[in-house]
Amino acid sequence: MRNIAVIGAGQMGTGIAQTVAQNGMTVMLSDVDLARAEAGKANVEKALVKLVGRGKIEADAAEAVLAKITPVADYSPMAEADLIIEAATEKEEIKNTIFDAAGKVLAADAIMASNTSSIPITRMANHSPDPQRFIGLHFFNPVPVMGLIEVIPGLATAKNTTDRVTEFARGLGKEVVLSQDEPGFVVNRILLPMINEAIFVLGQSTAGIEDIDKGCRLGLNHPMGPLQLADFVGLDTCLDIIMVLYKTTRDAKYRPAPLLVKYVEAGWLGRKTGRGFYDYSGEAPVPTR
Ligand code: NAD
Repeated sequence: MRNIAVIGAGQMGTGIAQTVAQNGMTVMLSDVDLARAEAGKANVEKALVKLVGRGKIEADAAEAVLAKITPVADYSPMAEADLIIEAATEKEEIKNTIFDAAGKVLAADAIMASNTSSIPITRMANHSPDPQRFIGLHFFNPVPVMGLIEVIPGLATAKNTTDRVTEFARGLGKEVVLSQDEPGFVVNRILLPMINEAIFVLGQSTAGIEDIDKGCRLGLNHPMGPLQLADFVGLDTCLDIIMVLYKTTRDAKYRPAPLLVKYVEAGWLGRKTGRGFYDYSGEAPVPTR
């Protein structure tokens, strides 16, 4: 694959675009409008400038990576793409609208993939022009750093599609875990109940933010506590994922912690808005409770 399209230029879409471009492929990047797509490319530039500053990449190489990313205003140029990766907000109706529209330009042998964290692939495949060429391709945040991609074939996904995206994922230097199309796949099925439970623990004042995170870092040997990780994922995305698990399985163990709902209602969405369980406005994150 040489030519990749990414729809959604938020945290994940920009990370995917950067990683794909760093691996020599060209990327078309879109969002709700051209200005947001351009802002996404500007965020990639900031990330690359940091890498240059830390001596991880040469300035010329960073410029070459950036030149491979083209913000686009609509889906028509994506007729040239070998793979379209949807990485928009975790709302099924938004994603379905994207598949309906971008599906109209999908080339005859191209693949359409979703970076969804939890929404069933088999269900969304109905909105793509060819469910055999539709698949889940779940990256982890931050994409340029994290070494894993989950590959999730839906019921109708062809083996050839799974093989091609697995090869693409490995070509990005990532390890691949193959998951069946079950709610939350493998990693989020395990992670989100833990994050949700940590927020229950906080809401019941069993311990404060720092102690909950410290407990998991030192007691479980996790590199980051669940509340800080929730801030990195985005609290809106955490709520969206846990709601998919809850509604899809109807299992009460996935009911969202009331404090998570409150934080999202307050617009405290984590690192991307500067405040979640921690305040990110200073040098180091400061717990907010
Ligand atoms: P985000 O809020 O940072 O970005 C979402 C982007 O989608 C925004 O730029 C928004 O403008 C754009 N968008 C909304 N509607 C759109 C539309 N109709 N067309 C095009 N773009 C549209 O969210 P994110 O963290 O980047 O998450 C994106 C997807 O990746 C979600 O499905 C999420 O579940 C998944 N994901 C997130 C993480 C994580 O840790 N944040 C990890 C893996 C997968």
